[in-house]
Amino acid sequence: MWKLTSRFRPHINSNSWLIRHFSSGDATGLYGFDHLKTAKGFQRFVADAIERSGELVSYISGMPSSPDIIKAMDEISDTVGVCCVVDSAELCRQTHPDREFVEAAHKAAIDMNDYLHQLNTNQTLYAAVRKAEQDSNLLTEEASRTAHHLRMDFERGGIHLSPEKLDKVNNLTTNIFQLCSEFSGNIADDPGHVDIFPVSRVPRHLHHLLTPVYGGSPRGYKGSAHASKHRGFRIPTDQRTLSSILQWTSDEEVRKMVYVEGNSVPHANHGVLEKLIASRHELALMMGCNSYADFMVEPNLAKSPKVVTSFLQELSRTVKPKADQEFIAIRDFKREKCGDKSAELEPWDETYYTSMMKSSVNDVDTSVVASYFPLPQCIEGLKVLVESLFGATFHTVPLAPGESWHPDVIKMSLHHPDEGDLGYLYLDLYSRKGKYPGCASFAIKGGRKISDTEYQLPVLALVCNFSRASDSSVVKLNHSEVEVLFHEFGHALHSLLSRTDYQHFSGTRVALDLAEMPSNLFEYYAWDYRLLKRFARHHSTGETIPEKLVKSLQGARNMFAATEMQRQVFYALIDQMLFGEQPETPRDVSKLVAELKREHTSWNHVEGTHWHIRFSHLLNYGAGYYSYIYAKCFASTIWQSVCEEDPLSLSTGTLLREKFFKHGGAKDPAELLKDLAGKEIISVHGEGIVPATTCLLNELKL
Ligand SMILES: [Zn+2]
Repeated sequence: MWKLTSRFRPHINSNSWLIRHFSSGDATGLYGFDHLKTAKGFQRFVADAIERSGELVSYISGMPSSPDIIKAMDEISDTVGVCCVVDSAELCRQTHPDREFVEAAHKAAIDMNDYLHQLNTNQTLYAAVRKAEQDSNLLTEEASRTAHHLRMDFERGGIHLSPEKLDKVNNLTTNIFQLCSEFSGNIADDPGHVDIFPVSRVPRHLHHLLTPVYGGSPRGYKGSAHASKHRGFRIPTDQRTLSSILQWTSDEEVRKMVYVEGNSVPHANHGVLEKLIASRHELALMMGCNSYADFMVEPNLAKSPKVVTSFLQELSRTVKPKADQEFIAIRDFKREKCGDKSAELEPWDETYYTSMMKSSVNDVDTSVVASYFPLPQCIEGLKVLVESLFGATFHTVPLAPGESWHPDVIKMSLHHPDEGDLGYLYLDLYSRKGKYPGCASFAIKGGRKISDTEYQLPVLALVCNFSRASDSSVVKLNHSEVEVLFHEFGHALHSLLSRTDYQHFSGTRVALDLAEMPSNLFEYYAWDYRLLKRFARHHSTGETIPEKLVKSLQGARNMFAATEMQRQVFYALIDQMLFGEQPETPRDVSKLVAELKREHTSWNHVEGTHWHIRFSHLLNYGAGYYSYIYAKCFASTIWQSVCEEDPLSLSTGTLLREKFFKHGGAKDPAELLKDLAGKEIISVHGEGIVPATTCLLNELKL
């Protein structure tokens, strides 16, 4: 499984005008911000941020020395509060149970958006940054890199264009932002549903996810003449329910109906996506690029969509033979199970039969595995990890009154015995109604050097949606959830351990195709018995997880590695194609996706399905989805060359921290990777950089 984090870079614009508030330790408002004692406080929060920012803008317009320009620019982005306002507002909007707070946060985000726009088009600031960049001999390496990035950010917002063109760029940016919200709004509002009669067609343990229906029109049920007498279920086809139904339902007709419906809605997104593609393309042209993919990939390691596409195509060819074999194995298994020698394997069969094959071959009962992963024990696992790797403790600290947004939230401090507190992490891990539905790390404050003796500590929140099984009072994670937790913790550590001078490069603010590396690296820990035996204990007996069980899990882990890789390559290719160079006449996007599926996967395309209209990664990761595959490759190489031999030692942790985490985005990403894992971790292809795939392909036996 590939874990997808929604990274809430504000969609507001491409500039990192993210300013952070710095409050004293005794604050008692939300997230420790004095202003946020009440929802109304967001107004004051915004006003103060703008006021302080204005002071810094006038200071910069006096053209102080170049180092002072960069410091003040970073302070605008940070200390004053724009970033804090934007990031806190986003976290609040996504997780706060109180409507009033959510609305105030939403309003704050809109107000900040307007102000950010003024900053991004401020010619005085742009001139100052250019001056600083030219005086790079006066700057430290990091300051000079900051100056360069700030100038690029300004120009990616169109500041260097004529007023008419800049106006057009601004309209397009706003339009793109609206289309993105519309796209995700449609997914949430129109998840689709199918009605299934009678209830016995759905496995009992999924009944709590569904709404009973009586009579009605029992679509697809062959015995429908009497169906109205039956009680049935309305199955919503949102992603989560869809996955559960596809995994557990033996009735193929039910799986098919749910698959087809779930992969056909929301219809409204066809139009939204076409408009989004067109607007992004137009924006890219105005910026002097050939395509939106050009525009997006240019600042990354890969540098050009050509490099990305050829990397993906080569990977596709490499995994094809093995993926075809896996397909045949699954098909034969289906034929055997349903006693039909000519049964065809369809996309709605995949999860059902692969899960069954995994558990039959490896004797893995997911509920038995989950009984060793009660959530509090998993948090113990994170503690063991940071203690072993970094000699640090990760412990609960009290929340000040008003600081928390829900009774489930706890606050942790990452503390080093010699260095003191390194940063803070709120954990909001349980699912509840109205909360952001996925798992993600949210920034609240970035790390930043304030003076030679003072460092602003990073603060962030890790948000997940773990829920109790219907028959249990303890939240137990299934193994893939443990993996997600470690993934998100990897992102969190990237921020918590970074010690950049400027918030501009704090933690995860790195090239997009490097950002998922730490999280993918930390997923390995969720599979390593050397760590698991130190925290995974049975929720009632306290017994340590048996090594045999972990071996079975590991055996099942990569059973369909080629199929999974094919899927990721297919997703990444869709993303590249849709936002790549556009033909004269608009294309039929659904047709293009269907062709890519036939060419790059071993599976049928089901006519009439349009999977991509629910592919929300097209929004945040437009032309950047390939980053996940890059990250998998980097993480595998680093795991094998740095961690695998002794994954829990202080020396391993020190390497990770000193050669990677500490630097955030402040150093050239290719240099960071080579310094950590040796020069073979990457290679230069044409104008860009591609990751070595050897370690990953060996690991997956491809
Ligand atoms: Zn991630």
